[in-house]
Amino acid sequence: MKTTIVSPKTYTYGSLILGGILRERGHAVTITRDLSTTGEVTLLSLFSTSQLLDPEIKEFAKRSSKIYVGGPVGLVPEIVLGELEVDAVVMGEGEEVVVDLVEEGPSAEIPGLAFLQDGEVVKTEPVPASDLDHVMPLIPEDLKSQNVRGANVYIETHRGCLGGCTFCQVPRFFGRSIRSRSLENILAEVREMKKMGVARVAVSGGTGSLFGYGKEVNKEAFIELLSSLAEILGPRNLSVPDMRVDFVDEEILEAVREYTVGWVFFGIESGSEKMLKVMKKGTTPEKNLEAVDLAHRCGVKVGGSFIVGYPGETEEDYQATLDFMDEAMLEDVFASVAEPIPGTPLAKLALDYPKDDNLLYREHAGDYRALKLSEAEARCFNLMLHGQNCKPIPKIVDDATYSAFLEEARTQGRDVRRVMDLLEKYRGQIV
Ligand code: SF4
Repeated sequence: MKTTIVSPKTYTYGSLILGGILRERGHAVTITRDLSTTGEVTLLSLFSTSQLLDPEIKEFAKRSSKIYVGGPVGLVPEIVLGELEVDAVVMGEGEEVVVDLVEEGPSAEIPGLAFLQDGEVVKTEPVPASDLDHVMPLIPEDLKSQNVRGANVYIETHRGCLGGCTFCQVPRFFGRSIRSRSLENILAEVREMKKMGVARVAVSGGTGSLFGYGKEVNKEAFIELLSSLAEILGPRNLSVPDMRVDFVDEEILEAVREYTVGWVFFGIESGSEKMLKVMKKGTTPEKNLEAVDLAHRCGVKVGGSFIVGYPGETEEDYQATLDFMDEAMLEDVFASVAEPIPGTPLAKLALDYPKDDNLLYREHAGDYRALKLSEAEARCFNLMLHGQNCKPIPKIVDDATYSAFLEEARTQGRDVRRVMDLLEKYRGQIV
């Protein structure tokens, strides 16, 4: 049976693994980012809610004869089944499901599936992968030319997160305990990728340094992972984007400096202690600042991500974020309008929050009022501009940068309002 895995625009790591599993079981399987190719069976890998609203993806699903969807969107299958004409949704991890699904089609015997039967959504309980040491992924020829924030590919070293941030789908999808792959399995995969021309690899997973976590952080395992990967790829070709501030120390940060491109990205989210509590971030502005300072002392550059427009964020909370940025002097800043991803506690909070108080819908009446932005968009735009000013070496904002930031803030506001509309539409089924 010819199976085609379609991962629109970007190859997700999950799609490569499922391709490897099917190939191992003797299937003729191809993988593509192109939405014009379908197979006898099509597996569609989707990672963001906005993909469910993409007209091209909707059209693709419609014309595919047997099509199954997987990825983080599977957390709320009611929305997927309502928005796309597909035969089933994989609700959790796909390793234990994919072969039976492709060979037999959806049934109540297969765990972790959702499909429509007589107009009703039938769901079976998901099972996590029994072993993360998987067969060699299916590595597409053009993986080497993919660019995802500077890397050709993000590989997974472990799953799960100890955190419970209310806006994040990682602990909901992968759980709150850490399951790690073996070092040998990871290195074999990266060697194979390198043979296929892949040069730059990023280590993903909610928090890089949780690799090898047992009862506590296993620094040695993480440092050995970085040094072994750097031996294969060269340190300038390895990055560890995401780290929690409470799971780094001097030794870890020095390893990041020595074996990687020398950056960490902290999810700082807000400079307001109140908002960090609302987000259940488990950190404080002081802890965030200490971690940034420590990274700088260890010679590591820091990117920080921030969320604006979270339900309950006041003008004072937002000002605290700007003040934090002044003090932290981050080398890079990422600003996002709070996105209520379906299946997260934030989605419920956003639905329950009065629309009149929601900054996504309130017109901005301050300095940027001529730009006709919502308050959430104005905060996002201003934060991006502010991020340029408070770098260790401030950057001048030229016309092109100004326009790009403005466009980005508007796009985010529009996309998050679309997600809100989607949540409203399915309110009765998902809350
Ligand atoms: S620490 Fe990061 S990965 Fe973990 S729940 Fe929070 S945002 Fe998600």
